[in-house]
Amino acid sequence: TTQIEKNEKAEVTEYFNGTGFDRWNRIYSESDDVNKVQKNIRIGHQKTVDDVISWLKEYDNIKDKSFCDAGCGVGSLSIPLAKLGAKSIHLSDISEAMINETKSRAKEEGLDFNKLNFRTSDLENLKGSFNTVICLDVFIHYPQQEAEAMVKHLCELSDERLIVSFAPYTPLLALLKGIGQLFPGPSKTTRAYTLRESGIIEAAKQSGFKVVKSKLNQAPFYFSKLIEFVKS
Ligand code: SAM
Repeated sequence: TTQIEKNEKAEVTEYFNGTGFDRWNRIYSESDDVNKVQKNIRIGHQKTVDDVISWLKEYDNIKDKSFCDAGCGVGSLSIPLAKLGAKSIHLSDISEAMINETKSRAKEEGLDFNKLNFRTSDLENLKGSFNTVICLDVFIHYPQQEAEAMVKHLCELSDERLIVSFAPYTPLLALLKGIGQLFPGPSKTTRAYTLRESGIIEAAKQSGFKVVKSKLNQAPFYFSKLIEFVKS
Protein backbone atom coordinates (compact mmCIF):
# COMPACT_ATOMS: atom_id res chain seq x y z
CA THR A 1 0.00 0.00 0.00
CA THR A 2 0.96 3.64 -0.19
CA GLN A 3 0.18 4.34 3.43
CA ILE A 4 2.75 6.20 5.42
CA GLU A 5 4.96 3.98 7.49
CA LYS A 6 3.35 2.59 10.60
CA ASN A 7 6.18 3.80 12.85
CA GLU A 8 6.02 7.27 11.47
CA LYS A 9 2.25 7.39 11.88
CA ALA A 10 2.56 6.24 15.50
CA GLU A 11 5.09 9.00 16.15
CA VAL A 12 2.78 11.60 14.64
CA THR A 13 -0.14 10.36 16.76
CA GLU A 14 1.92 10.42 19.92
CA TYR A 15 3.28 13.86 19.14
CA PHE A 16 -0.15 15.41 18.50
CA ASN A 17 -1.54 13.88 21.68
CA GLY A 18 1.40 15.23 23.72
CA THR A 19 3.86 18.08 23.20
CA GLY A 20 2.53 18.69 19.70
CA PHE A 21 -0.94 19.18 21.05
CA ASP A 22 0.27 21.82 23.52
CA ARG A 23 2.30 23.61 20.89
CA TRP A 24 -0.38 23.67 18.19
CA ASN A 25 -3.21 24.39 20.59
CA ARG A 26 -1.30 27.54 21.63
CA ILE A 27 -0.49 28.49 18.03
CA TYR A 28 -4.14 28.06 17.02
CA SER A 29 -5.44 30.32 19.78
CA GLU A 30 -5.12 33.87 20.98
CA SER A 31 -2.69 32.91 23.73
CA ASP A 32 0.26 35.26 24.31
CA ASP A 33 2.34 32.26 25.27
CA VAL A 34 3.90 31.86 21.82
CA ASN A 35 7.32 32.71 20.46
CA LYS A 36 7.96 34.76 17.34
CA VAL A 37 8.05 31.78 15.01
CA GLN A 38 4.82 30.39 16.44
CA LYS A 39 3.16 33.78 16.14
CA ASN A 40 4.09 33.93 12.47
CA ILE A 41 2.77 30.44 11.87
CA ARG A 42 -0.49 31.57 13.52
CA ILE A 43 -0.71 34.58 11.19
CA GLY A 44 0.03 32.51 8.07
CA HIS A 45 -2.39 29.76 9.02
CA GLN A 46 -5.13 32.29 9.68
CA LYS A 47 -4.72 33.52 6.09
CA THR A 48 -5.36 29.97 4.86
CA VAL A 49 -8.46 29.59 7.04
CA ASP A 50 -9.79 33.03 6.05
CA ASP A 51 -9.32 32.23 2.35
CA VAL A 52 -11.23 28.95 2.63
CA ILE A 53 -14.08 30.66 4.46
CA SER A 54 -14.25 33.41 1.87
CA TRP A 55 -14.16 30.89 -1.00
CA LEU A 56 -16.95 28.90 0.62
CA LYS A 57 -19.01 32.05 1.11
CA GLU A 58 -19.03 32.53 -2.68
CA TYR A 59 -21.28 29.48 -2.80
CA ASP A 60 -24.46 30.84 -1.34
CA ASN A 61 -25.98 27.53 -0.29
CA ILE A 62 -23.70 26.50 2.57
CA LYS A 63 -26.80 25.61 4.59
CA ASP A 64 -27.55 22.72 2.21
CA LYS A 65 -24.02 21.36 2.13
CA SER A 66 -22.15 18.67 4.01
CA PHE A 67 -18.46 19.07 4.81
CA CYS A 68 -15.61 16.85 5.85
CA ASP A 69 -12.75 18.54 7.74
CA ALA A 70 -9.98 15.97 7.53
CA GLY A 71 -7.29 16.45 10.18
CA CYS A 72 -9.33 19.23 11.78
CA GLY A 73 -6.86 20.11 14.56
CA VAL A 74 -8.62 22.31 17.11
CA GLY A 75 -11.44 23.23 14.71
CA SER A 76 -9.93 26.46 13.36
CA LEU A 77 -11.83 26.01 10.11
CA SER A 78 -14.86 24.01 11.19
CA ILE A 79 -15.94 26.37 13.94
CA PRO A 80 -16.37 29.40 11.66
CA LEU A 81 -17.84 27.10 9.03
CA ALA A 82 -20.44 25.83 11.51
CA LYS A 83 -21.23 29.43 12.43
CA LEU A 84 -21.99 30.09 8.75
CA GLY A 85 -24.69 27.44 9.04
CA ALA A 86 -23.17 24.43 7.27
CA LYS A 87 -25.74 21.60 7.16
CA SER A 88 -23.30 19.10 8.65
CA ILE A 89 -19.60 18.81 9.32
CA HIS A 90 -17.65 15.61 9.83
CA LEU A 91 -14.58 16.48 11.89
CA SER A 92 -11.77 14.02 12.28
CA ASP A 93 -8.20 14.02 13.47
CA ILE A 94 -5.61 11.36 14.24
CA SER A 95 -5.22 12.94 17.70
CA GLU A 96 -7.88 12.41 20.34
CA ALA A 97 -6.53 15.44 22.24
CA MET A 98 -7.24 17.61 19.17
CA ILE A 99 -10.77 16.21 18.86
CA ASN A 100 -11.45 16.86 22.55
CA GLU A 101 -10.18 20.42 22.22
CA THR A 102 -12.36 20.98 19.14
CA LYS A 103 -15.38 19.68 21.06
CA SER A 104 -14.71 22.00 23.95
CA ARG A 105 -14.23 25.02 21.65
CA ALA A 106 -17.45 24.14 19.80
CA LYS A 107 -19.27 23.92 23.09
CA GLU A 108 -17.92 27.29 24.19
CA GLU A 109 -19.20 28.78 20.95
CA GLY A 110 -22.62 27.30 21.59
CA LEU A 111 -22.64 25.34 18.32
CA ASP A 112 -25.35 22.81 17.47
CA PHE A 113 -23.77 19.39 18.14
CA ASN A 114 -26.46 17.69 16.04
CA LYS A 115 -24.72 19.09 12.99
CA LEU A 116 -21.22 18.07 14.07
CA ASN A 117 -19.85 14.58 13.84
CA PHE A 118 -16.53 13.97 15.64
CA ARG A 119 -14.15 11.07 15.00
CA THR A 120 -10.66 10.22 16.11
CA SER A 121 -9.40 8.80 12.84
CA ASP A 122 -6.53 9.09 10.41
CA LEU A 123 -7.15 10.21 6.86
CA GLU A 124 -6.82 6.66 5.52
CA ASN A 125 -9.79 5.45 7.54
CA LEU A 126 -12.13 8.27 6.55
CA LYS A 127 -15.34 7.03 5.00
CA GLY A 128 -18.52 8.63 3.74
CA SER A 129 -19.65 11.01 1.10
CA PHE A 130 -19.62 14.79 1.41
CA ASN A 131 -20.32 17.79 -0.80
CA THR A 132 -16.97 19.30 0.13
CA VAL A 133 -13.87 17.70 1.60
CA ILE A 134 -11.24 19.99 3.15
CA CYS A 135 -7.79 19.03 4.36
CA LEU A 136 -5.57 21.89 5.53
CA ASP A 137 -1.89 21.65 6.47
CA VAL A 138 -1.97 17.91 7.18
CA PHE A 139 0.01 16.69 4.15
CA ILE A 140 3.21 17.88 5.81
CA HIS A 141 3.26 14.34 7.26
CA TYR A 142 2.94 12.66 3.85
CA PRO A 143 5.72 12.01 1.34
CA GLN A 144 4.87 12.86 -2.29
CA GLN A 145 3.56 9.48 -3.41
CA GLU A 146 1.51 8.96 -0.26
CA ALA A 147 0.11 12.49 -0.48
CA GLU A 148 -0.97 11.87 -4.07
CA ALA A 149 -2.67 8.62 -3.05
CA MET A 150 -4.39 10.55 -0.25
CA VAL A 151 -5.64 13.19 -2.70
CA LYS A 152 -7.26 10.37 -4.68
CA HIS A 153 -8.81 8.94 -1.54
CA LEU A 154 -10.20 12.35 -0.54
CA CYS A 155 -11.59 12.81 -4.07
CA GLU A 156 -13.52 9.55 -3.64
CA LEU A 157 -15.18 11.02 -0.54
CA SER A 158 -16.19 14.21 -2.30
CA ASP A 159 -19.26 14.76 -4.49
CA GLU A 160 -18.37 18.27 -5.55
CA ARG A 161 -15.30 19.90 -4.16
CA LEU A 162 -11.94 19.28 -2.56
CA ILE A 163 -9.85 21.95 -0.85
CA VAL A 164 -6.33 21.11 0.29
CA SER A 165 -3.31 23.03 1.50
CA PHE A 166 0.26 21.85 1.80
CA ALA A 167 3.83 23.14 2.03
CA PRO A 168 4.94 23.42 -1.60
CA TYR A 169 8.28 22.12 -2.78
CA THR A 170 10.34 24.82 -4.42
CA PRO A 171 13.99 24.47 -5.36
CA LEU A 172 14.81 27.69 -3.54
CA LEU A 173 13.26 26.59 -0.30
CA ALA A 174 14.87 23.19 -0.63
CA LEU A 175 18.22 24.92 -0.58
CA LEU A 176 17.57 26.52 2.74
CA LYS A 177 18.99 24.76 5.70
CA GLY A 178 16.82 23.67 8.58
CA ILE A 179 13.92 23.30 6.23
CA GLY A 180 11.78 21.55 8.83
CA GLN A 181 11.66 24.81 10.76
CA LEU A 182 10.22 26.68 7.82
CA PHE A 183 6.98 24.85 7.33
CA PRO A 184 3.67 24.63 9.09
CA GLY A 185 4.89 21.28 10.14
CA PRO A 186 5.33 19.76 13.46
CA SER A 187 8.73 20.21 14.99
CA LYS A 188 12.01 18.45 14.96
CA THR A 189 10.33 15.39 16.43
CA THR A 190 8.39 14.43 13.30
CA ARG A 191 9.51 14.60 9.71
CA ALA A 192 8.18 17.35 7.47
CA TYR A 193 7.60 16.85 3.74
CA THR A 194 7.18 19.49 1.06
CA LEU A 195 5.18 18.49 -1.98
CA ARG A 196 5.35 19.09 -5.70
CA GLU A 197 2.18 20.88 -6.68
CA SER A 198 2.11 19.35 -10.17
CA GLY A 199 1.81 15.85 -8.67
CA ILE A 200 -1.01 16.89 -6.38
CA ILE A 201 -2.91 18.48 -9.27
CA GLU A 202 -2.32 15.43 -11.48
CA ALA A 203 -3.62 13.07 -8.77
CA ALA A 204 -6.82 15.10 -8.48
CA LYS A 205 -7.13 15.22 -12.25
CA GLN A 206 -6.92 11.43 -12.45
CA SER A 207 -9.85 11.37 -10.02
CA GLY A 208 -11.87 13.72 -12.22
CA PHE A 209 -11.21 16.97 -10.35
CA LYS A 210 -9.86 20.20 -11.79
CA VAL A 211 -8.30 23.28 -10.18
CA VAL A 212 -10.61 26.28 -9.85
CA LYS A 213 -8.71 28.42 -7.36
CA SER A 214 -5.26 28.48 -5.91
CA LYS A 215 -3.25 30.73 -3.64
CA LEU A 216 0.08 30.70 -1.84
CA ASN A 217 -0.14 31.91 1.74
CA GLN A 218 3.01 33.07 3.46
CA ALA A 219 4.25 34.55 6.63
CA PRO A 220 7.77 34.18 7.92
CA PHE A 221 8.04 30.46 8.84
CA TYR A 222 4.78 29.59 7.08
CA PHE A 223 4.36 28.58 3.44
CA SER A 224 1.20 26.89 2.35
CA LYS A 225 -0.32 26.39 -1.06
CA LEU A 226 -4.09 26.31 -0.99
CA ILE A 227 -5.96 24.73 -3.90
CA GLU A 228 -9.65 24.29 -4.57
CA PHE A 229 -10.68 21.51 -6.95
CA VAL A 230 -14.10 20.93 -8.44
CA LYS A 231 -15.38 17.67 -9.85
CA SER A 232 -15.44 18.11 -13.61
N1 SAM B 1 -6.33 21.21 9.62
C1 SAM B 1 -6.15 21.91 10.88
C2 SAM B 1 -6.03 23.37 10.63
O1 SAM B 1 -5.61 23.78 9.53
O2 SAM B 1 -6.31 24.16 11.54
C3 SAM B 1 -4.96 21.39 11.67
C4 SAM B 1 -3.59 21.49 11.03
S1 SAM B 1 -2.28 20.86 12.08
C5 SAM B 1 -0.82 21.58 11.42
C6 SAM B 1 -2.13 19.18 11.54
C7 SAM B 1 -3.17 18.25 12.11
O3 SAM B 1 -3.17 17.05 11.36
C8 SAM B 1 -2.96 17.87 13.55
O4 SAM B 1 -4.14 18.12 14.30
C9 SAM B 1 -2.65 16.38 13.50
O5 SAM B 1 -3.10 15.67 14.63
C10 SAM B 1 -3.35 15.97 12.24
N2 SAM B 1 -2.81 14.77 11.56
C11 SAM B 1 -1.52 14.48 11.31
N3 SAM B 1 -1.42 13.33 10.60
C12 SAM B 1 -2.68 12.89 10.40
C13 SAM B 1 -3.25 11.76 9.74
N4 SAM B 1 -2.49 10.85 9.15
N5 SAM B 1 -4.60 11.63 9.74
C14 SAM B 1 -5.39 12.55 10.35
N6 SAM B 1 -4.91 13.64 10.98
C15 SAM B 1 -3.58 13.83 11.01
